[in-house]
Amino acid sequence: MDFALTSEQIALQASIDAFMADRFPPEEVRRYDRNWETPSFLLKGYGELGLLAAPFPARYGGLETDWTTVTAIQERLGYHSSIAAALYSITVDFGGMSLLTYGTQEQRERLLPPLIRGELGFALALTEPEAGTDSAALRTSAAKVEGGWRVNGRKTWISCADSADWLVVPCRTRKGSSGSDGISMLLVPREAIGIAMTQLPKVGNHSLTSWDIGFDDVFTADGNLMGPEGGGFRCLMSTLAYSRAGQAANAIGQAQAAVELAMRHIKERVQFGAPLSRFQVLRHRIVDMQLRVDQARLLLYRLAWKISRGERCRIESAQAKIACTECLQFVADHGMQMMASAGYAAESDMNRYWRDARLLTFGEGANEMLRDLIAREMDL
Ligand SMILES: Cc1cc2nc3c(=O)[nH]c(=O)nc-3n(C[C@H](O)[C@H](O)[C@H](O)COP(=O)(O)OP(=O)(O)OC[C@H]3O[C@@H](n4cnc5c(N)ncnc54)[C@H](O)[C@@H]3O)c2cc1C
Repeated sequence: MDFALTSEQIALQASIDAFMADRFPPEEVRRYDRNWETPSFLLKGYGELGLLAAPFPARYGGLETDWTTVTAIQERLGYHSSIAAALYSITVDFGGMSLLTYGTQEQRERLLPPLIRGELGFALALTEPEAGTDSAALRTSAAKVEGGWRVNGRKTWISCADSADWLVVPCRTRKGSSGSDGISMLLVPREAIGIAMTQLPKVGNHSLTSWDIGFDDVFTADGNLMGPEGGGFRCLMSTLAYSRAGQAANAIGQAQAAVELAMRHIKERVQFGAPLSRFQVLRHRIVDMQLRVDQARLLLYRLAWKISRGERCRIESAQAKIACTECLQFVADHGMQMMASAGYAAESDMNRYWRDARLLTFGEGANEMLRDLIAREMDL
């Protein structure tokens, strides 16, 4: 196994550094976070840079790269900003890979080229008030009508729905069905009549805006059904390795940035007549933080390598997601302790890493459920 990035992948990361310095520098990252706004303008820039094209077939305008390249992009975006990486993941992992994996040919031709150009936003609207970790308990329904479907129900905590053109909405299309059977994946135009959205206040990830969405007799056309009618839940599950890899890469990018910030701080901050970095307890802490990042990063790139080879990777995607998200929590917590008041200050980036880290261990496959999944796969 060779997990070293190629010279092209390293150059791509350098172009992301330049892009972020120009379009979304640290002071803008802080401003968007302070204002609870989604920097949706980034998508167009990603399109111009070719980032969104990475994993897709050339016939739609894609570059047909391996998944390691996608992971390298996501990690570098996460290093600069969690929302920058999250927007990329929502678009590529939820939007694009869903279309590619189980969309119809007509949907791919209609939607993938504009998605790759950065002209289309997506959001996954799965969670409901009574269906969180137990997502197969969802109740939002879609009834067949002339020419399409009528959607009724409520979704909650949906990220970036404000900047999405399309909502990917798992709905129950078979009356009386329960669990994962009878669920279908519908694309619903976000501006459709009958959609009502309310923004949700929260602890962190302020610029990854969260929305409660009511669906009142919302119409979507026949051509917007993705995958088999009634078999949508399995389709959704088939794309989870991509989104877990995306979340893990975002976490590890942020974790690396947090280690570097803590290190800069203890080299500069003088107490008892010496920089804090002279005190062994703090030096060892930095070493342990970087050790955790490097360990988790290896699991992440092993996952990317397996995805690229088209191998089954249920265990590996769960392991990478657990390791990287818990690594970020560990690093941000220790970083906060080392920076103390300078980290706790409202405008500190450590404060943002620390708040944002809290989401990732329960979002998109709670780590408890992923440990259950691994235990089952291990025949426990
Ligand atoms: C900021 C943010 C963004 C989000 N973005 C999206 C989005 O874009 N799209 C979307 O569809 N959803 C989104 N979500 C929802 C997210 O996926 C859910 O919060 C998550 O699935 C957990 O559901 P819950 O919050 O209802 O917790 P619950 O299901 O109530 O779980 C509470 C706790 O119990 C644990 N638990 C539950 N069942 C078990 C069990 N059987 N064994 C052991 N432990 C268990 C869980 O791990 C968790 O720690 C987002 C949430 C947040 C906060």
